[in-house]
Amino acid sequence: MIVMKFGGSSVADAERIRQVSEIVKPQLTRKPILVLSAMGDTTDHLLEAAGEALKTGAVSIRKIEELHRRTARELSLGQAVLDEIEPLLGELQSLLTGISLIKELTGRTKDYLVSFGERLSTRIAAAYLRSLKIEARAVDAWDAGFLSDSNFTAAELLPESGNLIVQNLRPLVESGLTPVVTGFIARDANGNITTLGRGGSDLSATVIAAACGAEEAQVWKDVDGILTADPRLVKNARPVEQVTYEEAAELAYFGAQVLHPRAMQPCIKTGTPVLVKNSYNINAPGTRIVAKLDKRSGPVQAITSRKNVTLVDIVSTRMLGQAGFLEKVFSSFAQYGVSVDMVATSEVSISLTLDAAHDLEALKKDLSRIAGVDIKAGKAIVTIVGDVGRSSEILRRAFGVCADLDVQVEMVSQGASKVNISFIVDDTQTEKVVAALHRHYFE
Ligand code: ASP
Ligand code: MG
Repeated sequence: MIVMKFGGSSVADAERIRQVSEIVKPQLTRKPILVLSAMGDTTDHLLEAAGEALKTGAVSIRKIEELHRRTARELSLGQAVLDEIEPLLGELQSLLTGISLIKELTGRTKDYLVSFGERLSTRIAAAYLRSLKIEARAVDAWDAGFLSDSNFTAAELLPESGNLIVQNLRPLVESGLTPVVTGFIARDANGNITTLGRGGSDLSATVIAAACGAEEAQVWKDVDGILTADPRLVKNARPVEQVTYEEAAELAYFGAQVLHPRAMQPCIKTGTPVLVKNSYNINAPGTRIVAKLDKRSGPVQAITSRKNVTLVDIVSTRMLGQAGFLEKVFSSFAQYGVSVDMVATSEVSISLTLDAAHDLEALKKDLSRIAGVDIKAGKAIVTIVGDVGRSSEILRRAFGVCADLDVQVEMVSQGASKVNISFIVDDTQTEKVVAALHRHYFE
């Protein structure tokens, strides 16, 4: 058994859905379970429609209707699929009318709203596969066993989901069916629809793969895999052949938005390999995410960066030999709801980074009672992911590159995960530093 997940751009229109069938056909003997995202930008369009209903009271699902009806027509699916999708479109229209009247959009309603994207895409794709004589069946996440808590828009699956998924999906696969499961969504114990957070269908796929003991989880995207750097910054960025789960998670978090950061978790437990492939370039080998690398080609796997970071320096001589100073500092951050990303400490100072989105006035005032506080906006985190067993070599070379560029490194942190070394530079120097590091390590 394998799991094959197709993201929004891989099912964006009739032509892309035909391509999905080309990818699936030769792998039917491996007993695939398909997991789909909503078509193209449907999730965004659904949220926009709700925004419009709230703001002006206007209800329009024209874009969404057109895309799905046109796709059904172009795939020559006939009446049977319309009988499945028209009631969903009708229900969606009523929901938006309700939103426009009540002028309220709670997390619960939002999740119900966006669920239509995946419910529509799976029905169309399953019908198309059936038209090719592939015994496919659209399965809604709740019928597949996805049971979550009620934390709408960012729900967590309950532990019993694993068993439920096996009980629901395995018999289908064993009877020769190809289930086409809605990614991203689930249901709570009260029967409310929930979602696993934006991009959550990656997680749906890895959860199924881990639960069912699949041979592998294939995640089909519109890029050649996890790249050595952001291709917008580095022209010569190329796919990495193999990375570990930890490296992939670091890369997902620090800027390379290829996979959902939490998507690796289920497979770490079972050691299920995750293969990232490009549905627009199926012959590219893709990236394999595994527990342990067969071989390392060099000390560095990839370089990422994140801009718009704020650096906070906290200096206090009172910290010398004191117990509990760090606790005071961090409880201030907790009190003001500010989440901290990187931290470095010395005997008398703490440097840490935050997303620029926070309002720091009150926090600064609070901290100033116990320490000198200096806040510098407009910074960037550059992260080198690789073999931290060779950190001295990586750091020596990275700092050499920065020195040659006359770039001052303002803070350094070696992640406890032992796969990343991060440092802070000025926002304006990000491109230059990432490009130079890439040339140094890969070109
Ligand atoms: N359709 C959802 C989104 O756009 C989930 C996903 O694509 O993974 O976020
Ligand atoms: Mg999407």
